[in-house]
Amino acid sequence: MLLNNDNVELSVIVPMYNEEPNIDYLFERLVSTLDRLKLKYEIVCVNDGSKDNTLKYLIEHHLRNPAIKVVNLSRNFGKEIALTAGLDYATGSAIVPIDADLQDPPELIEELVAKWREGYDVVYATRRLRQGESWLKRLTANGFYQVISQMSPVSIPRNTGDFRLLDRCVVDALKQLPERNRFMKGLFAWVGFNQTSILYDRPQRYKGVTKWNYWRLWNFAIDGITSFSLLPLKVWSYVGLTISVLSFLYASFLLVRTLILGIDVPGYASLMVALLFLGGVQLLSLGIIGEYLGRVYEEVKGRPLYLVKEYYGSTPESMNTYVLPQRGARNLDVDAMMRKSSET
Ligand code: UDP
Ligand code: MG
Repeated sequence: MLLNNDNVELSVIVPMYNEEPNIDYLFERLVSTLDRLKLKYEIVCVNDGSKDNTLKYLIEHHLRNPAIKVVNLSRNFGKEIALTAGLDYATGSAIVPIDADLQDPPELIEELVAKWREGYDVVYATRRLRQGESWLKRLTANGFYQVISQMSPVSIPRNTGDFRLLDRCVVDALKQLPERNRFMKGLFAWVGFNQTSILYDRPQRYKGVTKWNYWRLWNFAIDGITSFSLLPLKVWSYVGLTISVLSFLYASFLLVRTLILGIDVPGYASLMVALLFLGGVQLLSLGIIGEYLGRVYEEVKGRPLYLVKEYYGSTPESMNTYVLPQRGARNLDVDAMMRKSSET
């Protein structure tokens, strides 16, 4: 594919946001694992707008080991988009996204590759334990998987992060999904193919802190649900129908009672209850329509998913700097890039 004509067999993608303290140890473990595998590999690191020295360290590693490639995004776009950028730049026949904080043990890649060689297209690594996570995180994570599995027609494997092996055919399929809202767990599941899993114990973060606070996780969950289920939108027809039927029954009752017993003025409580309840339901349903509408708006704007400032990787000896054409790397003008690289 792009920028690379030597046949890389395995691409490891590492999205990184402020991972300075983890980089050295990560590469140490990753490279020794990959060396053991005796495959032609590359490590595509996506610097997702880090504010520390992550980029500097990455470039140093790239200069020492040309198999380490660096995609520098123009700002922080979030993990899902960073991962998408990594997928666009990866050239291997098998691709493994991995976290930079060593919560996904690099040694496991050997097992993933073994399963891939058995003929599976997707091998995901499922967490046996969630060590070092608070009960609240575990509870909310469980709740989320429960809700999304009820709502969404594709089954999203539980307790599975983005750490998995994807065959080239799966990645090519993924790239055809044009949506801006990249809920990767769901997209990986949506494409299907021949899937299997291995189990592992997820250790704690090596250094640094997680970038996912609860607000971010909540939004992540809403993204997941809205992109994989229309249930929250559809349910309002049924809620509306039920309320209408109940209101009709109650209205008939009121009518008959008024005809028999005459008008009785008090009724403040029931009026208020009905008014507030209906107001609440309407606002809630409007809000949910808003969630979807906002996402439709995002899609329609058709902005590029990400912007790349620099790419370090095409030729080992010199550092080449490409500013990619717009629309992410989706519609790459490879010729123009070649021309640019021969000029420099
Ligand atoms: N990450 C990223 N962009 C972000 C947030 C996180 O590229 O905006 C990367 C981060 O550097 C790490 C991976 O995504 O490699 C997982 O992040 P983190 O460990 O914070 O998430 P958690 O393990 O707590 O789910
Ligand atoms: Mg982590």
